[in-house]
Amino acid sequence: MSTSYAPPVQRLITELSKLPGIGNRTAQRLAFHILRASHEDGAALAEAVLEVKEKIRLCEVCSNLTDEPRCRICSDPRRDHGVICVVEEPSDVIPMERMHEYDGVYHVLGGALSPIDGVDAEDLKIAELLARVAAPEPATVREVVLATNPTTTGEATALYVADELRERAPGVTVTRLASGLPVGSDLEYADEVTLGKAFAGRRAV
Ligand SMILES: [Zn+2]
Repeated sequence: MSTSYAPPVQRLITELSKLPGIGNRTAQRLAFHILRASHEDGAALAEAVLEVKEKIRLCEVCSNLTDEPRCRICSDPRRDHGVICVVEEPSDVIPMERMHEYDGVYHVLGGALSPIDGVDAEDLKIAELLARVAAPEPATVREVVLATNPTTTGEATALYVADELRERAPGVTVTRLASGLPVGSDLEYADEVTLGKAFAGRRAV
C-alpha cells in the first residue's frame, strides 16, 4: 500500500480499486477526478451509492433488483406471465429488454452453478423458480426460457434447471437460447440483433 497519499485519498483509491475492471492506476485516476470535482458532484456520487444500498432489494417474485416489493416487470399486467426467462444476474435482464421482442417475465438466479467456487443449487434462486413454475395459481406457466450465459457454468446451470423442471413441472416447455451468442461471454455484452436471433431460434431442451 502506498504511503505517499493522505489517508483519506488512499482510502478512496482502495475502495475504488475493489470495483470490477478497476486496477490501481484507474482507481488513482478516478480518485483524482473526484478530488477535482465540485463538492456537489462528490456528494451526489456518495449519496447515489448509499441510496442504492439502502433502497434497492430483490423482487419477491423474480429476484430482479427493485425499490418496491415487486419489480415493475412482475407488476405489469401487459407482460405475459406464462413465459419466464431465466437469467443469471439482474444485469442480464437489460439486454433482453433492449431487444424489444420479449414480453414475458423473468427469474434471476443470482449466479451460476460452480461447485469449484462453492456455488451449489441452494445458493441460487432455483427452488424459488421451481415453486413459481409448479404453482397452479394465478397464471399457469407455459414456457421457461433458459437464458443463462453461454459459459461452462451457465450451460451446467441450464442443464440442471432443465432436469429439475422436467421432474417438477413436466407439462411446461423448457427452451434454451439458440447458439450464436459468443461462446464464453456474458449475455450482458450481447448486442440486441444477436440476442434477438438467439431468442427467436430457441429450442426445446
Ligand atoms: Zn420481479
